[in-house]
Amino acid sequence: MSRFLSKRYKSLEVYVPGEQPRDRQYIKLNTNESPYPPSPLVIERVNSAEVSDLRLYSDPECTSLRQRLAEFYGFSISNIFVSNGSDEILSFAFMAFCDGNKGIAFPDITYGFYPVYGDLYGIKCDIIPLNDDYNIDCSEYYGIGKNIVIANPNAPTGISIGQDEIEKMLETNPENIVIIDEAYVDFGGRSCVDMVKKYDNLLVVRTFSKSRSLAGARLGYAIANEEIIKDLNKIKYSTNPYNINRLSLVAGEAAVEDEQYFEDCCKKIIKTRGYTTEKLREIGFEVLPSDANFIFARHPLFSGEYFYKKLKEAGILVRYFNKERLYGFVRISIGTPAQMDALISEASKIVSEQK
Ligand SMILES: *Cc1c(COP(=O)(O)O)cnc(C)c1O
Repeated sequence: MSRFLSKRYKSLEVYVPGEQPRDRQYIKLNTNESPYPPSPLVIERVNSAEVSDLRLYSDPECTSLRQRLAEFYGFSISNIFVSNGSDEILSFAFMAFCDGNKGIAFPDITYGFYPVYGDLYGIKCDIIPLNDDYNIDCSEYYGIGKNIVIANPNAPTGISIGQDEIEKMLETNPENIVIIDEAYVDFGGRSCVDMVKKYDNLLVVRTFSKSRSLAGARLGYAIANEEIIKDLNKIKYSTNPYNINRLSLVAGEAAVEDEQYFEDCCKKIIKTRGYTTEKLREIGFEVLPSDANFIFARHPLFSGEYFYKKLKEAGILVRYFNKERLYGFVRISIGTPAQMDALISEASKIVSEQK
């Protein structure tokens, strides 16, 4: 830290992204990326003509991509906002709708970025513990009188909450924004985007990073009432109007267009998730019921950190969490069937070494 850093940020605890080591080739199951490449249509569209056009600024309104998303979800373009990764929307939303007086509530075990934004913007965070079975206690949020952010499915547990519970949060908090972060919803959860038509306090946040194989393009989007979208634009036009580069815009558009490829990839991941869960349970793992492209698992014979280290030695990366109630677990992203077979085989070895 230099002596110039503003006092405001001296004690800020930053978000720690999953490791991206370069020392050797790993089977990378630690950051929930897709094991499949983007749609061939993406590769076709991000071509030399588009690269030549990089001399020009990108469309600050992102009209073409927003139009595609609006058609895909059955909304008007005025209900769509796109951003440089969905992290940026979350950041904008915390900035736009929360402050020292207007707090925000979220679970103790959830996406690690929520408390960081809270801290960065000086927002009062109301952190509500998950149940003993790692479910979100939805009733805690009814009529809470604060903004709410929920990842659905939740991370790193993979567990979803129901439509009725979301609806009740919206109904009982009409003067507050309810942000539903659907980063993983395409892998078997149920989206609440249609509720945007009924509730003007719902902000649904989505990403191209996981189900559309575009983590490196940094592309996210939000669907909400027109007035909420205007508020997000207010923050965007006060920070970085050209927040999305030209290549990512065309990549995103092509990815939405190729519906079949998207659905096939999601189906493959869901199938591989079922297979992996079953195999890990057979060798004694407890695996939480996941609707995401990862599973959250623990074994009674060792800690998550121990399992992580043993897998890393074998060239497989997963993620463990140094946090109360999570010491036993690792989060394993779903890769290709071959990658998961390698994981299962290593896990079997590690389990049998304990006996
Ligand atoms: C991955 C993830 C994001 C961020 O995705 P980007 O679009 O890559 O910024 C947001 N929320 C949750 C819960 C995530 O897991």
